[in-house]
Amino acid sequence: MSPSSSIYAYLEKPSMVDYPKHFAAVFFISGCGFTCGFCHNATLMGKKQAGLSWGKLEAACTQFKKEWVNGVVITGGEPTSANDLPELIHFFKERFGFSVKLDTNGSNPERLAECLPLVDYVAMDVKCGFSAYPAVTGFQDIDKIQQSIDLIRTQAKNYEFRTTIIETVHTHEQMKEVREMVKGSKRYALQAFIPRDELPEEQYRTIPRTTSARLHELEALMAGCAEEILIRGA
Ligand code: SF4
Repeated sequence: MSPSSSIYAYLEKPSMVDYPKHFAAVFFISGCGFTCGFCHNATLMGKKQAGLSWGKLEAACTQFKKEWVNGVVITGGEPTSANDLPELIHFFKERFGFSVKLDTNGSNPERLAECLPLVDYVAMDVKCGFSAYPAVTGFQDIDKIQQSIDLIRTQAKNYEFRTTIIETVHTHEQMKEVREMVKGSKRYALQAFIPRDELPEEQYRTIPRTTSARLHELEALMAGCAEEILIRGA
């Protein structure tokens, strides 16, 4: 075991909203191969940063356990960029008995396949239709995204696909592509985009928050693509 884990930071306060039906501690892994201009975790994009020691992680988990936390969210950055992700999942589950949710952008199906038997819930971002992936995320290898969708749909214990709806990106045509990508899924979530001054690309900082009306319009468009369709942030 290396002296440091890949966990770069964590939220001091447990969350009621990041892991369905769980009171969860949220842990961040740095590094992401995408370059989304609307990234809310831009400080975690790009290169890897030093992680917490396993001892510090243990102390944090012991404290969370005392606070009645029953789940862990591993998010980023992109968690599948971490070589020790399977080790981390074992640590959270076996040492502390936490249920583990993994967030991913679907760029690393090989590591995802290794982790799927270990995690209890997976949330994969479907950023846009395949045709727009290179422009929107900077990621060219669409086959990997497709492989991750297929793996999750067939092997995850519980999961969701989700899209954050940005007015200028998620046109009707784009969302028809997304519908095809997630067709036959268990759960699909439409999430409101919230602009912030610190977003990496200026063009996204002034786009208005997604309206409730737009989310409900897309809910109708996506009807039938998943057993359950959720709206978040309306
Ligand atoms: S995939 Fe997520 S973490 Fe990576 S750049 Fe895009 S929004 Fe940021």
